[in-house]
Amino acid sequence: MNKPIRKAAVIGSGVMGSGIAAHLANVGIPCLLLDMVPKQLTDEETAKGLSLEHPAVRNRLAASAIAKLTKTKPAPLYDDSFAARITPGNLEDHLAQIADVDWVIEVVVENLQVKKELLRKVEQHWKPGTVVSSNTSGISINAMSADCSDEFRKHFMGTHFFNPPRYMKLLEIIPGERTDRDLVGRMKTFCETVLGKGVVLAKDTPNFIANRIGTYGLLITLQEMLDKGYTVEEVDAVTGPAMGRPKSATFRTLDLVGLDTFVHVADNVYANVADAAEKKAFESPEVLKSMVAKGWLGEKSGQGFYLKR
Ligand code: NAD
Repeated sequence: MNKPIRKAAVIGSGVMGSGIAAHLANVGIPCLLLDMVPKQLTDEETAKGLSLEHPAVRNRLAASAIAKLTKTKPAPLYDDSFAARITPGNLEDHLAQIADVDWVIEVVVENLQVKKELLRKVEQHWKPGTVVSSNTSGISINAMSADCSDEFRKHFMGTHFFNPPRYMKLLEIIPGERTDRDLVGRMKTFCETVLGKGVVLAKDTPNFIANRIGTYGLLITLQEMLDKGYTVEEVDAVTGPAMGRPKSATFRTLDLVGLDTFVHVADNVYANVADAAEKKAFESPEVLKSMVAKGWLGEKSGQGFYLKR
């Protein structure tokens, strides 16, 4: 378990995965960036009787995978030359390549079942010595890895980057009950010295530390605004620059995080705390749920509380 981290794989190329891959590339670590790319025939291909295995279809799917992974997702690099360190790929076809990396970071949708299933697939290709971590905002590290072997769980922990990974210094490391404590210490040193982060060790409690507080703050602001009839702009004027947080106003933050992700993160505390008052405090208001249902997910979909220009 003393392998230095020279190569990484990031699984999930959304808001956070692309940002984490870019941060790793920026500090000189080559990384695979894998995500699901739906494999479906077009109407024209179906009419011609082609299958998914036909070379023309395979080529089109490969081209659209690269397009999805490199163009439609944000990848903030310090300099375009670093892009060469990121190798995008379709998760299904390239997962086996994680056998060659030193660190696998899971950054897919905030859903326990999806993460559990993915970890089981990762374990099939994983080699002992490789660190595996999750960027979950608050799902239990122990629950996520419950179906994995003890050996795998020794190498598994939460590494929770904040958005955007390039600028946010805080990183929470969350050991699970089986995680090797020496490995936690080495990852802490690595994240501080190589990635430039300020690491806080957190316990495996719902939403850990920062999101237990931050999610509550955002929800209470949203509720107050609804109750008292303030506008989005008024709330952001007060909770942003006026509070010395030029880029962290309430609704700008929700748009940046992604409204769907925010609802999942709030739901995680709602589902996992017993205290009725605390449960109530983490209940997402209907307005948020209806925006998500309409596909208004924030910056990533072009429409949230603000329209992306
Ligand atoms: P996102 O919605 O932008 O991206 C999620 C990605 O997961 C998508 O590219 C999607 O294709 C992929 N995905 C969905 N289902 C999948 C599956 N079954 N298998 C493989 N890939 C799948 O989400 P995000 O904001 O990047 O969040 C990813 C993780 O990071 C979540 O756990 C989230 O809680 C955490 N996180 C998010 C933020 C934030 O501000 N958005 C901050 C810190 C941590």
